[in-house]
Amino acid sequence: HFYGQSPPVYPSPNMTGTGAWADSFKKARDMVGRMTLDEKVYLTTGSSSNTSCSGFIRPISRLGFPGMCLSDAGNGLRNTDFVSSWPSGLHVGASWNKSLAHQRGTGMGNEFRKKGVNILLGPVVGPMGRVVLSGRNWEGFSPDPYLSGALVYETVQAVQDIGVITSVKHYIANEQESNRMPANGMESVSSNIDDKTMHEYYLWPFQDSLRAGTGNIMCSYNRLNNSYGCANSKSLNGLLKTELGFEGFVVSDWGAQHAGVATALAGMDMTMPGGDDYWGTKLVDAVKNGSVPESRVDDMATRILASWYQMGQDKDFPTPGIGMASDLTKPHNIVDARNSTFRSALFEGAVEGHVLVKNTPNALPLNSPKMLSVFGYSAKNPDHNSPTIGSSAWVFGAESFSYDEFSGGFFGNAAVGNTPIAFNGTLYSGGGSGASSQSLAISPFEAIVNRAYEDGTALFWDFHNGNPAVDPASDACLVIGNAYATEGADRPGARDDYTDGLIKHVADQCNNTIVVFHNAGIRLVDQFIDHPNVTALIFAHLPGEASGKALVSLLYGDSNFSGKLPYTVARNESDYAVLGPVLPDAGMFRKFPQSNFSEGAFLDYRHFDAKNITPRYEFGFGLSYTTFSYANLSIEKVADANTNEYPTGEIREGGQVDLWDVLVRVKAEVINKGGRDGAEVSQLYLGIPKDDEDEREGDKTPVRQLRGFDKVFVSANGGKKTVEFELTRRDLSVWDTLRQKWRLKKGGGGGKKYVVEVGGSSRDLPLKGAVEI
Ligand code: BGC
Repeated sequence: HFYGQSPPVYPSPNMTGTGAWADSFKKARDMVGRMTLDEKVYLTTGSSSNTSCSGFIRPISRLGFPGMCLSDAGNGLRNTDFVSSWPSGLHVGASWNKSLAHQRGTGMGNEFRKKGVNILLGPVVGPMGRVVLSGRNWEGFSPDPYLSGALVYETVQAVQDIGVITSVKHYIANEQESNRMPANGMESVSSNIDDKTMHEYYLWPFQDSLRAGTGNIMCSYNRLNNSYGCANSKSLNGLLKTELGFEGFVVSDWGAQHAGVATALAGMDMTMPGGDDYWGTKLVDAVKNGSVPESRVDDMATRILASWYQMGQDKDFPTPGIGMASDLTKPHNIVDARNSTFRSALFEGAVEGHVLVKNTPNALPLNSPKMLSVFGYSAKNPDHNSPTIGSSAWVFGAESFSYDEFSGGFFGNAAVGNTPIAFNGTLYSGGGSGASSQSLAISPFEAIVNRAYEDGTALFWDFHNGNPAVDPASDACLVIGNAYATEGADRPGARDDYTDGLIKHVADQCNNTIVVFHNAGIRLVDQFIDHPNVTALIFAHLPGEASGKALVSLLYGDSNFSGKLPYTVARNESDYAVLGPVLPDAGMFRKFPQSNFSEGAFLDYRHFDAKNITPRYEFGFGLSYTTFSYANLSIEKVADANTNEYPTGEIREGGQVDLWDVLVRVKAEVINKGGRDGAEVSQLYLGIPKDDEDEREGDKTPVRQLRGFDKVFVSANGGKKTVEFELTRRDLSVWDTLRQKWRLKKGGGGGKKYVVEVGGSSRDLPLKGAVEI
């Protein structure tokens, strides 16, 4: 399968200032009109600064423009003190909670703002999670575009409401870390994607972020259909700035620019970290010698300033970088960005991303145990939380460990590079530029000790030994491990023998062995899960600084589990559509690694459904201390909705406006049948009917796709709640490659109905109905 090249789309569309952008556009144009060419170029090209900001745009004092600080990341502010470590993207995905995602965005936005950070480098919806072992999947919410889109929408709205611009990244198809950058005479990997898959899968959550009004998009390191992400006129000029009506600006990922004129013409607007390699003085030259029209530079500057005005950063915004001291070991200006108002969001956010997938009666919740044993390296804090910041300490305060740190092959050094498969210390986030900085963080073990002290519980622990001694008088044995992942490398595997061996060793001697993983990605469990003494399993993901408190609250039943898996846990690696990254081969593409996305949209549960593979734990699954049932499905078409086959609306940010029209409303009832209060994530899956045109394109319609979810709290012993889902035109459409529009499946009689299923997971869907448009 050869995908050829990315089609050219020129010239780059100018910002037009439609809809909500009208005022900011006017102000920006006015300011740009008063700027010299040099000054306009200053806005487009990062410069150095005396701060720890990841990127900086210099001030233009003559015009009262104070400059801009850009900083990581999507789960909290990195490289500084007095900030919080928020749950990572995957953890938010596992909570399936829109309002909690919104609160997190508000909390993070506040911290960035106080520190004088104009642009939050996140949230992440690329990678989506196509490659199970990709190093950065944990920064994003889920490999499902709908779930990812719904949560990015909330995050962007919340952060930007505080006046901080979001940089939704990495655009687009940044699905593996291996060969993400050109090196050794080799170009970056090319993600080769067909038009239909692009629209229905990878572009989908970016579209949601545009609809939420994101001011910025970050173009990615990889190539897309053989053209670099930041020089790709089809994805930037075409998809983003034409089809989706993007009014903001595109910033390069750090070092993702590999050409000057080509990136300018393809629609990139700002280069980071900047310098004169391609833009700066070279962009001035390119305008003077006619290679880049000045109008393009005007448009770059207009888009940048319009976002700045749009978030109100011209009024009362703290001095850029004010709280971002370049060296925390020297005396510096103290800006405490934390705010106690958001402590509950930090805690609840941490709680709700824990997913309980196995629990035999009497395992959990713990009930004042007489003796508890705790094992595993992810129970305790790493040895450092240190002000020394720099590229070697990407997990803030935690050092990278050498391979001989543990005997027994603790660190995997398998497939890719030197990335550890697990990390010596509990994980609050994954590693790389998305690693968060915590002012304080409570580990599981610290929280357990406190609780045990109150209860008078006897505690044994051993974090070091692969074959620890176990006292059989233990009422429960906790084994707390992790699955590490970091930017810049793909994971060596989806399980590790050291940790699985530890679990089996403990389980052989302790008949109530409770396993917890802080997993920065999918972690397989089949080597131990059927051991009769493994009584409970929790995917604890990456909870942020409240980790230990949240875990203890759940283990002891003060909180109830309500998270669900935002991905599928397979029985075997080979069950996945795409497990690992593409590595360069020795053939004709040796210097141009090619990753063909030939599976289309058939990833995660779509793949398991299509191939009839039984997962270990399906997408959307998660247990609670109570149980729920479903009843009374109602499906109602919105009476006066326009049901033309194709949308006719004008283009605003996010695409044609009528794509967001609600055409169908679905309701159902959730009943709490158990004895404990709890929250349930109800899910709606849609089976889109196939027609002749689909057959012509090859059968590319999944059995079912997530198209709605609603998390409700239901009180114990028969409490009831109604859940509601709205299906928009986009939700009900497929991408028509011929007409380049979303197409509704108009009814043609029997067999052409949409199938609507509602329930508690992608494989537990007790309610089923159908609707015809
Ligand atoms: C990462 C981005 C990050 C940037 C700035 C890059 O290496 O890919 O996600 O925002 O660095 O730190």
